[in-house]
Amino acid sequence: MSGDALIERLAAIVGGEQVLTAEADMTPFLGDWRGRYRGAARCIVRPGTTSEVAAVVRACSDAGVAMVPQGGNTSHCGASIPDTSGQSVLLSLSRLNRIRAVDVPNNTMTVEAGCVLQEIQATASRVGRLFPLSLAAEGSCQIGGNLSTNAGGVQVLRYGNARELVLGLEVVLPSGEIWNGLRALRKDNTGYDLKHLFIGAEGTLGIITAAVIKLFPQPSAVVTAWLAINSPQDAVTLLGKLQAGFGAGLTACELVSDVSLGMVLKHIPEAQAPLERSPWYLLLELAGAGDADVLRVQLEDFLGDAIGAELVSDAVIAQSGDQAARLWDLRERISEAQKIEGFSIKHDISVPVSRIGEFLDLAGEALNAAYPGIRIVAFGHVGDGNLHYNQSKPEAGENASFMASQPDVNRIVHDIVHALGGSISAEHGIGQLKREELQRYKSAIELDMMRAIKRTLDPKGLMNPGKVL
Ligand code: FAD
Repeated sequence: MSGDALIERLAAIVGGEQVLTAEADMTPFLGDWRGRYRGAARCIVRPGTTSEVAAVVRACSDAGVAMVPQGGNTSHCGASIPDTSGQSVLLSLSRLNRIRAVDVPNNTMTVEAGCVLQEIQATASRVGRLFPLSLAAEGSCQIGGNLSTNAGGVQVLRYGNARELVLGLEVVLPSGEIWNGLRALRKDNTGYDLKHLFIGAEGTLGIITAAVIKLFPQPSAVVTAWLAINSPQDAVTLLGKLQAGFGAGLTACELVSDVSLGMVLKHIPEAQAPLERSPWYLLLELAGAGDADVLRVQLEDFLGDAIGAELVSDAVIAQSGDQAARLWDLRERISEAQKIEGFSIKHDISVPVSRIGEFLDLAGEALNAAYPGIRIVAFGHVGDGNLHYNQSKPEAGENASFMASQPDVNRIVHDIVHALGGSISAEHGIGQLKREELQRYKSAIELDMMRAIKRTLDPKGLMNPGKVL
């Protein structure tokens, strides 16, 4: 089928105005937010229903044309950007954005893939429930993208990754068939749990069109605090004590280095240091069903003991929602500030929580020896063993030469992570950025199983080629 014939067939399925071919219309879909990847496509197609997605996939499959699913395009690893051949069709899921059902007694909601995460959170809140997936990109990322990347975020400690928040999926397979797995069951042991194949698959096995997601009670009390601490080891000790003292009430425990805070204070005009500067900080959130004042007093007691034990040097507890939001802003805007500072090398690694201190010591020593003056911007979800371990060039260094050192910096960091039993991607996924790294660190048997699954579901290799495998 010629390119034009395929575009005509796609236009007949979704309507001519939903097939974009003009360069200016396609441009926003073809580059990533970090400015690292720019691809090309024969068109952008925007189906509005699951059956339209299925018909689009069938048309592309018949024509032997590759497809790239795209949600909010907030990927950190170029996962939703096509290659530069200009041969693929980019499928934007944004118009598939209906909330299909809310079942309050069952604590579930059925949502289409293109629903923006923040809108899902707001819908849950309107019925007195919480959808706990929360990340800084929530104003633009979509649930289909969140599930396809098994997104994490700041509440994994209490509620788990996106994978743990899903009961059922509807998926258009690479053949164009629709799998309706929209079950709203918390218990279902009827063979292989197929939904987990598509969660975290980065669009390489099929297109998620809808999901049944879990809702939770809204906590009536939320208390947020910012702690000055001396070391990541102290953070891990505190985490254990907080979990023992508050159980599931500890919903977030975020580690922030002073280098990271320094970048926020430098580049975000409204940012203010909440305490005297210290080598490290912890941002805590406690949530529960009781009274916020009671929870606040319990946290004050806890912090009094921790200061007495010299685990915490100083602390502030937010006295209002506004103050809590300002503390969260210091954490959430680190990536933005680091972007303003210049080119950065990013790692979203995980290691067992018990080895976080060891990882930071080993990686810090190795990077400083190889690149004197390198600035290490480390922050993240200490409770999950997941750190954003990013590097900025030395103050006097050049962006270009720092960019050239990226493969070597990755090797240093990832080899240490691997040696400590960790993962080279705890959150952002593989995309096109870490495809070669995956080959280095996954065992041959694991890669073979992944390839076998890919071949079985996508024998023509048309679904988001060049990503993950
Ligand atoms: P996209 O970027 O559009 O796509 C991501 C991948 O999913 C691609 O492979 C794409 O092909 C595939 N895909 C998209 N929709 C579908 C679908 N319906 N069916 C099949 N495949 C699909 N991530 C975290 O995990 N935790 C964080 O804390 C976090 N913080 C972030 C903060 C900022 C400021 C930014 C910009 C990003 C952050 N991210 C984080 C990364 C990103 O937001 C997540 O990966 C998010 O889940 C991607 O959603 P998206 O809709 O933008 O997907």
